[in-house]
Amino acid sequence: MSLLQAEVERRGTQIFDLVDRHPESIFSKAGFYQRIMEFSMRDEYFKVQMFRFVDVLASLRRGSDIVQHLDEYFADMRNGFTPLIRTGVSLARIVPIISGKFLRWNVSGMARQFIAGRNPDDVMKTLRKKRRQGIGFTVDLLGEAVVSEEEANEYAARCQELLEHLARETRGWTDPLGKNSELFPVVNVSVKISALYSQMNPADPADAIAHLAPKLRPILRRAKELGAFINFDMESYAHKNATLELFRTLFTEAEFRDWPHAGIVIQAYLRDAEEDLHDLIAWGRERGTRFTVRLVKGAYWDYEKIKSTQNGWIIPVWLQKPESDANFERLSRILLENESIVTSAFGSHNVRSIAHAQALAEELGIDRSRFEFQLLYGMAGPIKRALVEMGYRVREYSPVGELLPGMSYLVRRLLENTSNEGFLRAKFSEHVSAVQLLRDPRDMVNGVAAAVPAAPSDSAAGTAAATVDFSRNGATREMPSVDTYKNASLTNFVYPESQEKMRTALREVRARFGQKYPLVIDGREVWTDKLLPSLNPSAPDQIVGFVAEAGIPEAESAAKAARRAFQTWGRTPFEERCQLLERVAAILDRRRFELSAVEVFEVGKAWAEADGDIREAMDFCLFYAYQMRLRGNPRLTQHVPGEESYQHHWPRGVALVIAPWNFPLAILCGMVTAALVTGNTVIMKPAEPSAVLGALLMEIFEEAGVPPGVLNCLHGRGSVIGAYLVDHPDVEMIAFTGSREVGLRIWESAGKTRPGQRELKRVVCEMGGKNAIIVDSDADLDETIVDTIYSAFGYQGQKCSACSRLIVLEENYERVMQRLLAAAASLRVGNPEDPGITVGPVIDETAYRRIQEIVERGKTEATLAFQATHIPEKGYFIPPTIFTGVKPEMTLSQCEIFGPVLSVLKARDLDDAIRIANDTDYALTAGFFSRSPANIERIKAELVAGNVYVNRSCTGAVVGRHPFGGFKMSGGGTKAGDGDYLLNFLVPRVVTENIMRHGFAPEATPEYRAEFLWPPR
Ligand SMILES: Cc1cc2nc3c(=O)[nH]c(=O)nc-3n(C[C@H](O)[C@H](O)[C@H](O)COP(=O)(O)OP(=O)(O)OC[C@H]3O[C@@H](n4cnc5c(N)ncnc54)[C@H](O)[C@@H]3O)c2cc1C
Repeated sequence: MSLLQAEVERRGTQIFDLVDRHPESIFSKAGFYQRIMEFSMRDEYFKVQMFRFVDVLASLRRGSDIVQHLDEYFADMRNGFTPLIRTGVSLARIVPIISGKFLRWNVSGMARQFIAGRNPDDVMKTLRKKRRQGIGFTVDLLGEAVVSEEEANEYAARCQELLEHLARETRGWTDPLGKNSELFPVVNVSVKISALYSQMNPADPADAIAHLAPKLRPILRRAKELGAFINFDMESYAHKNATLELFRTLFTEAEFRDWPHAGIVIQAYLRDAEEDLHDLIAWGRERGTRFTVRLVKGAYWDYEKIKSTQNGWIIPVWLQKPESDANFERLSRILLENESIVTSAFGSHNVRSIAHAQALAEELGIDRSRFEFQLLYGMAGPIKRALVEMGYRVREYSPVGELLPGMSYLVRRLLENTSNEGFLRAKFSEHVSAVQLLRDPRDMVNGVAAAVPAAPSDSAAGTAAATVDFSRNGATREMPSVDTYKNASLTNFVYPESQEKMRTALREVRARFGQKYPLVIDGREVWTDKLLPSLNPSAPDQIVGFVAEAGIPEAESAAKAARRAFQTWGRTPFEERCQLLERVAAILDRRRFELSAVEVFEVGKAWAEADGDIREAMDFCLFYAYQMRLRGNPRLTQHVPGEESYQHHWPRGVALVIAPWNFPLAILCGMVTAALVTGNTVIMKPAEPSAVLGALLMEIFEEAGVPPGVLNCLHGRGSVIGAYLVDHPDVEMIAFTGSREVGLRIWESAGKTRPGQRELKRVVCEMGGKNAIIVDSDADLDETIVDTIYSAFGYQGQKCSACSRLIVLEENYERVMQRLLAAAASLRVGNPEDPGITVGPVIDETAYRRIQEIVERGKTEATLAFQATHIPEKGYFIPPTIFTGVKPEMTLSQCEIFGPVLSVLKARDLDDAIRIANDTDYALTAGFFSRSPANIERIKAELVAGNVYVNRSCTGAVVGRHPFGGFKMSGGGTKAGDGDYLLNFLVPRVVTENIMRHGFAPEATPEYRAEFLWPPR
């Protein structure tokens, strides 16, 4: 055993002895809290329901609401608590007011255990008491998620007040150790950076710093005058780089350069924490003034893991608990070895982590008064006491705030206390032995490298067929399992490299503005005497590129070419077709920043929106290839002796693909790939405003090796070539996404049978929506506001899935509107070349004028509650607009706007809200925010929409995860991004063979067999 390990064990044992001398469990508060914690640790389902109930409780106003929720959350408990809860609920029903009060009182008591005071005044009682125990403080202001600049400014003002108050109230307080006190001011305030700016965007740390620095300077200035200490807390990974950069920027400024009383948090659960710490220390040395680092493991482990997994990102946190512990110890060493410039604050309740820091400091000869231990208020009381007794400096992190805004903090603490991996549970609840708890974490890291998702390009290919086992006769008994598709990744713009790649791409794409793109027919470039310009909607005097315009003759040649190519393509093995799609996906991945940049210029998408579109295009390629492999082989219809009946599919023929501009690559690519992989040949007509992107997609298919004539690209006017081809006898099917007006015309026209036509035309028709989000009276408003704003104004409301009606229950109306209007007012509108922009221009002048007209008409029907005023003069910018007082029958409620205009309707109750939501011609997407399990279940059953989203935005469908499409006037009920979607492009066929000869037949018939191809390849 190393000397250090021996010393860690010695000190750890000493702490445990001191802890055991004053036996006080972390769950010391008897009664309600203790019960809840015990039940939660015994039963995971109870824990989830209980914490969700705690989360909603503070927002419920009536006793009857509380009882109702209690019933809903615990009605179907299938364990030992059922009788308890049942009796509780029955009793509560009799006197809801009293029981509501009783529950609220108990949960408030639970919250008070972790929240040191309601306000700065209230917290002083706690701080004085702790001072008597030799424990210092850092105060943190609890708050709701900041969704607007109004709220951010309020938070800044509260920080100032807090500082003043603490300074006034602690005058004359001295350092508990009376040594090296100049390093540890009595007044210490922890600041949550994201609460000071509502528009923090990971892609734009410079913008965050530009907005945050002016808000922080007065706070820092005052803290400096008052002799206080300011700590920057660390939040989610998305904000980490900006927070670090902000810290370095501010404390390099002349005014603060020589001020030593600033600190920042490093989270040891992050894989890049060590690099960040080295950078910070190097910066500190150059600055030449001390600063502090609070070393913690990190509070958002589950969130980071979930978020990254959903987006296909590299998970930034360690995946094994001992890895975080070991990293904490590595970072402790780095901190203590650099004690000459950085003061350490170890934020942990883990006795092993604490003992390790103590032992290391001793080894390095650092006096115990030169660093401190920080622990959370309401947790690990005996450990704090032990540390004080051992002569260490202890500071308590003391949150201040009301119950409602403090709920998310309370739930985080409850989760931490009940976590299977947590030290506190192991020690105080499961009574794990000291020896076990003091083991070196490096010895506990599992030898197998923890699984980290592959880097974006690695995750691309879904090569399902590789696993299929074909037997000698070409048939197989097995098919690959169905749900193993892994989506392509989004770009994580939190990384400076991603930001830099995007900036470079924007520069390069701009440099080739004005380039000309041909039509492609039968594998040949075709130029006509007319070029169509494609403009930048943010600056319409800029021409992104020109495309050759097709007329009827070119449409005719494309139809002929596609028909000829079909003879071969339709009989090409599906595996070859799948591989073509995978090559396309790989090229999309290679060119993703360039393509995103073109989207920013050509259709006005913000960075992340543009990247999302490329990701979706890649997903369509990979997902449809994956699905085709599942469906490509003929499948036995039934096992019956003596006969083989195989069902399989043939392609329909020539598919005409007419795509919209709002998802210029994704939707175009989705329809084209579905048609191609199923063996059809395609004439694609990209939308006019996104013609350059269409031309680039053609280029990509050519590079991937699409045979001549299999994919043909025609630019031009839908009313001319589109209409001509819809009626063309050589076109067997039309895949269309776009406006209702054009969609219905295609539907009708394709229904007529014309001379020379071989097939009944199939139409896949996806149109618009008038999508509603309903806000229940108990909804989590932090989530509701952020997601509604995103759903309504993301990509300027130009998504068919966008929220255009917000239906708010009367009871909640004022609270929702106050926050919603302030949040809308905080949105940044401008040219999306700038990464911090959320709202860009609408697509073109026609859209601009049409939306303006609707807004003007809206003013005569309803109340214009908000319209942004700071918008660029040049370009097609429509300010985010919110109407209130909207009635269900008004144009604002019924007509699709396709722009950043949100209509708010008030509903009496949920019945009324559902009726309003369902009362339109459309059925595309719908959303609901609620914390009532019963209401959520009802909504799932009753909202009339193809895609219903609960407690999240109603946009952002992911291929395979959220098959997308609506019905009624939103479309023909097909779902893009679903395996069954491919069936639209196929005709089914059954081949039956009597395999009995003179009473003899093979015993087994394979489930699947090879394709019926002649001559076989
Ligand atoms: C005073 C103070 C201030 C704090 N300030 C911040 C802050 O600004 N920002 C912040 O993010 N956190 C902060 N924290 C940390 C956080 O809130 C938790 O309290 C802390 O992570 C718990 O660690 P521990 O050492 O006490 O307990 P332990 O039980 O030893 O560690 C639990 C921690 O291990 C990590 N972990 C859990 N499971 C795994 C796994 N499977 N793989 C890898 N790692 C895992 C998580 O970080 C988890 O919180 C602060 C903590 C304190 C005490």
